[in-house]
Amino acid sequence: MTQSIRSLYIDGAWHSAISDVKIAVINPATLQPIMRVSFGGTEETKEAIQAAKAAFPSWSSLSPRERANYLYRARDILLDKVDFIGRLITKEQGKPLAEAKGEVKGAASFLEWYAEEATRLYGEHIPSSNPAKRLSVIPQPIGVIGAITPWNFPASMITRKIAPALAAGCTVVLKPAPETPLTAIELMKVFHQAGLPKGVVNLVTGDAEKIGAALLESEDVRLLTFTGSTEVGKHLIRGSADTVKKLSLELGGHAPILVFQSADLEKAVNLTIASKFRNSGQTCICANRVFVERKVLNEFQELLVQKVKELKLGDGLESSTTLGPLINGRAYDKVTHHVEEAVSKGATVLYRGDEKDEQLAGYFHPPVVLTSIKEEMLIMNEETFGPVLPIIPFDEEREAIDRANDSPYGLAAYVFTKDLNQSISVSEQLHYGIIGINDVFPATPEAPFGGVKQSGFGKEGGHQGIHEFLDWKYISTSLS
Ligand code: ADP
Repeated sequence: MTQSIRSLYIDGAWHSAISDVKIAVINPATLQPIMRVSFGGTEETKEAIQAAKAAFPSWSSLSPRERANYLYRARDILLDKVDFIGRLITKEQGKPLAEAKGEVKGAASFLEWYAEEATRLYGEHIPSSNPAKRLSVIPQPIGVIGAITPWNFPASMITRKIAPALAAGCTVVLKPAPETPLTAIELMKVFHQAGLPKGVVNLVTGDAEKIGAALLESEDVRLLTFTGSTEVGKHLIRGSADTVKKLSLELGGHAPILVFQSADLEKAVNLTIASKFRNSGQTCICANRVFVERKVLNEFQELLVQKVKELKLGDGLESSTTLGPLINGRAYDKVTHHVEEAVSKGATVLYRGDEKDEQLAGYFHPPVVLTSIKEEMLIMNEETFGPVLPIIPFDEEREAIDRANDSPYGLAAYVFTKDLNQSISVSEQLHYGIIGINDVFPATPEAPFGGVKQSGFGKEGGHQGIHEFLDWKYISTSLS
């Protein structure tokens, strides 16, 4: 019998759901249940909102330095648990252990950076046109925050939202993805151990629709911060109208990579692989379309296939594994469908890795490289979220930019070139929120991460990331 735990963290204590229903968390590599967690819903979310509301006045009145000290303590505790939480991420999410441990360190870096930023929330003094008036603008925390997070980065997507919210003086109700609640639970334990006052952070696992609806309907929740699909993002936009809630949305992407003939081809190949196959292709900034200048196409393809062959499919807990399983059957079916549909419309399979070992039960998809791509293929229009890499040749810079921009999404785009003017000109013309020039790892706490168009709005990271959680109050004082 799989062990079960009380996974609702409300007002500083652990609870079961009212219904006492428990849902199993499945290891995507073995398909074995790891743990059963509470299935909360409307009432539990209301309680969590109430706890966050009650905690807000005292939390927001602490000095920024005091709030920063809690975050520093949480960082230190989290860093002591890199191995333990890293293994847990690999078990519930599937990514190779080295990636998982790297994620935990990344998660800690958000706590650290926003601890620093807490103390630098400066207001403004405005010179008035009326000499008898003094005008100032002060930042104030927006209030109770609802945070809804995805499974692909079960730790860092949480701290990327919670750290700036807490630093700003907000209190939080978190709803993690149902696939990866165990990492969220461990993060709550970290905050608890750091001595965070009760109610400042709260966790509700369970029914996504009911928890989402309770967060949307609450007058007390003043901002929803969400990372996930564009479809759910649109649902949240619609649902936030009645309470005029502020939103910060990091939605789907369809990242293009543009490889120009002047590029360092070996670097371009290595980083294309790193971008496409990290987390088995399950990141919102993973390369989805790789445009290569025709003059270097053959060389790029040869080198790429040679290196993709080195990827090792397997359970992320094995040290040799570089490509773990996909998160669930739905994800596996989508990736399979994208490949089959492309092939049925004329795509050529340039390379397909070996199928999974027979001992592996989980949702393992081999790496696939496709050519002879047509614009109407699903893979060119929908986020694949899997280890499939389509290569598309181009002849002119203009053509590459136009084709890269031809997407409803606008999260990240990458450019490989050694030509300085080209790097500047192309990055300015790409309609994306994040551009990597000879770089595919742009995410870092000190820089604003976020998209344009249907990839959402709002930033995470950077000083912009904490501004999401602030209202700017304007105070006009008449001296006459
Ligand atoms: P994916 O398809 O990759 O799982 P989703 O957008 O469905 O992406 O999931 C991202 C997060 O949004 C998860 O925490 C999920 O539980 C949550 N979610 C899904 N549907 C809803 C909903 N109707 N209301 C609120 N949250 C939701």
